[in-house]
Amino acid sequence: MTAEPDGPEDRLRRFATIWSRAVFPVTSTSLTRPEFERELLPLARRLSRALHARPLDADEGRAVGATLVSVHCTDPEALSRTLDCVDAYLVLYCGEDGDREELRARCSRLQHAMAAGFAQELRERTLAEQEAISAAALKAQGVVAQALHATEARFRAVFEGAAIGIGMADLDGNILQVNGALLRMFGIPEDSLRTRNVKEWTHPEDAPQTWTLYEELVRGEREHYHLEKAFYRPDGTVLWTNLTVSLLRDADGEPQYQLALMEDTTERRLLNLRLRYEATHDALTGLPNRTFFFERLEKALGAGSGQRFGLCYLDLDGFKTVNDSLGHAAGDRLLVEVADRLQSCATAPGEMVARLGGDEFVALTTGPDTQREVDDLATRIMSALLAPISIDGRELTVRGSIGIVEGPAGERSPAEVLRSADITMYRAKSAGGNRFELADPEADARAITRHGLTTALPAALERDEFFIEYQPLVHLGDGSVRGAEALVRWLHPQHGVLGPDRFIPLAEHTGLIVPLGRWVLEQSVRQARKWRERHDQAGPLRINVNLSPCQLTHPGLVQDTVDILERAGVEPDALCLEVTESALIGADDDLLKPLRRLAEMGVDIALDDFGTGYSNLANLRRLPVSILKLDRSFTQGMQQFPADPVDLKIVEGIVSLAHSLDLAVTVEGVETGAQAEQLRILGCDTAQGWYYARPGPPDRLHQLALVDATG
Ligand code: C2E
Ligand code: MG
Ligand code: MG
Repeated sequence: MTAEPDGPEDRLRRFATIWSRAVFPVTSTSLTRPEFERELLPLARRLSRALHARPLDADEGRAVGATLVSVHCTDPEALSRTLDCVDAYLVLYCGEDGDREELRARCSRLQHAMAAGFAQELRERTLAEQEAISAAALKAQGVVAQALHATEARFRAVFEGAAIGIGMADLDGNILQVNGALLRMFGIPEDSLRTRNVKEWTHPEDAPQTWTLYEELVRGEREHYHLEKAFYRPDGTVLWTNLTVSLLRDADGEPQYQLALMEDTTERRLLNLRLRYEATHDALTGLPNRTFFFERLEKALGAGSGQRFGLCYLDLDGFKTVNDSLGHAAGDRLLVEVADRLQSCATAPGEMVARLGGDEFVALTTGPDTQREVDDLATRIMSALLAPISIDGRELTVRGSIGIVEGPAGERSPAEVLRSADITMYRAKSAGGNRFELADPEADARAITRHGLTTALPAALERDEFFIEYQPLVHLGDGSVRGAEALVRWLHPQHGVLGPDRFIPLAEHTGLIVPLGRWVLEQSVRQARKWRERHDQAGPLRINVNLSPCQLTHPGLVQDTVDILERAGVEPDALCLEVTESALIGADDDLLKPLRRLAEMGVDIALDDFGTGYSNLANLRRLPVSILKLDRSFTQGMQQFPADPVDLKIVEGIVSLAHSLDLAVTVEGVETGAQAEQLRILGCDTAQGWYYARPGPPDRLHQLALVDATG
């Protein structure tokens, strides 16, 4: 029995099976072998047809070769196995109807065509793939570049638009890029910066660690550093910056660039210097101030052994009068002139002059030989003050009192030295002023410091340490006691009785003068009430109370005065308020208003110490005063007999002027009968002085008035 022979289709399938089995192991397909066989079957059919086609279609062979590539037979081994298979089985299974020799030839040509087709397809495929890769790479590059560009653009925008200076340099310090702000800071065009190197930018004020930090950064040992740094601009000026330098590393972490961010702090620094200057210098005179002086004194006192210091503590005599009577502007100009003169006295190395405040100045000399130098310094200062100072067309004579402290460094503190100088200066002043005195440790120990008094003042008022002495005011015509001036004293627990000159200025300075003044007024008005009750028959006694300039500007003045008078049941005309000439000259209407109100109520206002200021007599008309108190200096000129004719003329003139303005004239400091007589002849109305009585307890006045009334 013979099996039915295979048909052509079966033979084709068998060929495809053999082909697939040969090639499948070297393909990279994801198909199963039977699936792969089904892929190859159409190709086998195409080869079979091509084998028989007339003429031979080589293109079909190429097409099959090419298709092999597309079914993932891209490996050269796959082609090789395919060609072997075609060579051995194509004619055998598909070429039964034809000339075997011719079929074999045709099969060879098909194999060539297949190989060619395969190769071309593979090349095209590879090219396409490469193309795709490179296109993708290109595309990718483009994307990256674009992204980079965006970052860069953003970076550029930040870079350019930044208010702070930004610069980039390589690790050798060559500058690669800088922004506009940095160029503007340096005031130069970009090209000239590009050729520069970071290391050229040294500055004498570079902090010691500046370049160490730099080296560490470029060596990759630190990521950034921050410091204040100065740069020279091309024009020689200095640019101060807050500098931050960062290390930029590449993708592998290798140091690549340095990036500097700098903020211009020149202005701020100048401001700081100015603030420092302002904090250490006196705004008016430009001299170093107390703070600065203390620093220098501290340094001088801390100097090594063999070093000494000499200090002159100067206080102008009578400056308050100038200030009060000519006004603060004139006082200021005087101080400026004095400061200039003092400065010219202390120009040697180790010497300095400072203003401690008000009219107090210090001159310091340091070195090994200050014993001799400090005397010279004080002498120079005294003679520098000799020439009058011209202000507003007036020639003002300026005098000063100097306290000198000299000694070795390392023994005393600045505060101790200054205290000693202050005490010594005060001693010079008490001795009449216009002189210098040398510090004396014994005198220091006994001395009462202004500081000590100032701090003790408030408690003194609470503890009732103040008391009032009264000095009678006598009518020159009939010698009767018309009233008394209240003069305050301080019974200090350690220092005994202190006169008002010692503490009134301090009370004015601290503001305690207001409660103290109110207390004096209260006491005096009560005293006036007592006198009035007892001595009605002798005519009413009046009380004179001194008012400080501070009290004048105190808003409660009028009300306080009215209350005090009412509470004591005393009429306003029993009170006379004494205001110094210097406090009123140049006063505006606001300042005069309270006085005017009091005057309208009947309180007398006296112009005290008249003639010591630089007052304009024509001004008297504006003031709500009814009494002139001629200063003691006028009466002093009448001590001898015959009196100085010029003094007499002046007093005569003043008296007639005062009377023509309806002002009564009181004279102070009458110490002799001759003076009293002289003043009476000149037309003065009342007098006050030791000739009649020294200031004393109220009972003394009571007796005087009694004697006067009865005798
Ligand atoms: P002032 O108002 O000119 O008082 C007159 C000063 O001359 C008093 O000095 C008095 O003791 C003194 N004196 C009187 N007669 C003579 C004399 O014949 N020869 C000499 N050489 N001096 C005489 P005092 O008491 O030291 O007062 C000084 C200044 O203190 C007063 O000058 C006055 O301005 C102020 N003062 C006194 N008490 C007070 C007060 O309660 N309040 C205020 N704000 N100042 C007062
Ligand atoms: Mg007075
Ligand atoms: Mg007086």
